[in-house]
Amino acid sequence: MTSPLLKNAATGVLSLEAYAPGMPLEELQRRLGIADAIKLASNENPLGPSPAVKAAIADSVAGGNLALYPDGGGFRLKKAIGAFRGIAPERVTLGNGSNDIIELLGRVFLGPGRAALFSQHAFAVYPIITQAQGARAVVVPARAADDAQPLGHDMPAFAAALKANPDVSLVFIANPNNPTGTWLSPAEIEAFIRQVPAHVVVALDLAYDEYMEPALRSPSREWLEQYPNLVLFHTFSKAYGLAGLRVGYSLSSPELADLLNRVRQPFNNNSLALLAAEAALGDPAHVARSVELNNRERGRLTATLRGMGLTVLPSQANFIAVGFGRDAAPINQALMQRGVIVRPVASYQMPQFLRFSIGTEAENDRLVAALKEILAS
Ligand SMILES: *Cc1c(COP(=O)(O)O)cnc(C)c1O
Repeated sequence: MTSPLLKNAATGVLSLEAYAPGMPLEELQRRLGIADAIKLASNENPLGPSPAVKAAIADSVAGGNLALYPDGGGFRLKKAIGAFRGIAPERVTLGNGSNDIIELLGRVFLGPGRAALFSQHAFAVYPIITQAQGARAVVVPARAADDAQPLGHDMPAFAAALKANPDVSLVFIANPNNPTGTWLSPAEIEAFIRQVPAHVVVALDLAYDEYMEPALRSPSREWLEQYPNLVLFHTFSKAYGLAGLRVGYSLSSPELADLLNRVRQPFNNNSLALLAAEAALGDPAHVARSVELNNRERGRLTATLRGMGLTVLPSQANFIAVGFGRDAAPINQALMQRGVIVRPVASYQMPQFLRFSIGTEAENDRLVAALKEILAS
């Protein structure tokens, strides 16, 4: 007997599987009674947010403004982001995390009869919003495992798929991509954008942009002037350490920003999140410290794991995809037993891989020690 509730649920939703987030620390504690577990599963900043963020939140709570609705237009934060990026605030759209931006894009540009184009092994939220909107997914096969960017985005194949599927209205590119960590050069991205017709939106997900080598970062301001169908989006969840507060934003033409704004919840950022993000932008030294720690530890962890005979995909992000050459699920279980939460990526068609977020030196050492024990047994 199927439930009568299913009769009226949207078609796309019926066959949809909910996004499975990294396991929260408390859950491992509840399930296995492990008190000192560490979480290297969701690409959070191991240093946490800037002290300026904590001070701003404490001041606001003490000031007693929580009874009032937040500024639904996000005036101050948009102005700060505009100044930081050197672009006009009317090009900025705020999201409740950048996941919210992805959803707004889907609501505006996807529906029955239209399609979203993205890579195999790309971020899971793209197929979810596509299906929820009743649109078709055009999944571009990833690059080969022995490519310089193994399992990465194949931009010539994107261009060919776009030509072959005239119903595509929205293209997602993640740079670097999650969960592979692979990346594209600005030249590769721009060569693709130039081939995209003006009525097709290119959404460039830059969640890990801060961790990239400067020469690899996308020149947002120049591109925005040139391509009105381009939307770039950023998050405060990763390098800024605000994942718990949910703030992201997009940069686009004012016309595209206006479209997103029409379907945005009027108060999609709460007051604490708005002022925390503003304070975070004001402390670039904290971001620089976070990136420096990440990139140093990413290099060290990569070398150590490769030394143990494991496959580590090249990464410009704050995580690495590690291949075991066999089903990784038992290794994930064994890590959990030892109080280390990492991210299985079988749902990304990578069942022999696990994704490790880069932690502090001590956290990474603990991960390596646990792995050595597991692989030796
Ligand atoms: C983490 C991540 C985001 C950001 O998510 P938020 O909703 O901003 O926390 C966006 N895109 C990718 C590819 C990510 O990995």
